[in-house]
Amino acid sequence: MKKDETPEQAEKRKAYGREYMRKRRLEDPELNRRTHKKMLEKHPDYWKQWHYSHRTERIAQAKDWKRKNPHWRRADPDKYRERNRRDAQNRAGRRRGYPPISKAALAEVWDSYAGLCVYCLGPAEHFDHIVSLATGGPHTAENLAPACARCNCSKNRTPLLVWLARKGGQVGKGPR
Ligand SMILES: [Zn+2]
Repeated sequence: MKKDETPEQAEKRKAYGREYMRKRRLEDPELNRRTHKKMLEKHPDYWKQWHYSHRTERIAQAKDWKRKNPHWRRADPDKYRERNRRDAQNRAGRRRGYPPISKAALAEVWDSYAGLCVYCLGPAEHFDHIVSLATGGPHTAENLAPACARCNCSKNRTPLLVWLARKGGQVGKGPR
């Protein structure tokens, strides 16, 4: 509230502001997105700090939104699973001090192998850390390759050469 203003006047002024912004947004639907982006560029640390200080609250909010919007998950379960997996891998990477790998960088890796499992050449479903994170492999695009679920889960944290030897060169018939 500004000085020399009654509560009614303050409410009127705010309502006017809200109405003005609503009209601006109608004329220019990208307005909010652009303003947010500008703020992010100008004060990157401010937002980082904000996100950290509202961590618990934001996690609770996200959970709530997820619970209230199941249609989003149902509409495209594959996309949902893929994003969850990517987030989980990025979190694991971050715990080890690696920055997250962007969706675009992942798509590039995927395309460079034509979406085929590097181990058995079947259709790939996951991204495999060639040298697993658990054994000290880096969380970088160079250490990622598409793999089918079967190969990925079978290889798990076994060193690549040991796993390949165990497979005995039997393409697509990895030990479980
Ligand atoms: Zn495979």
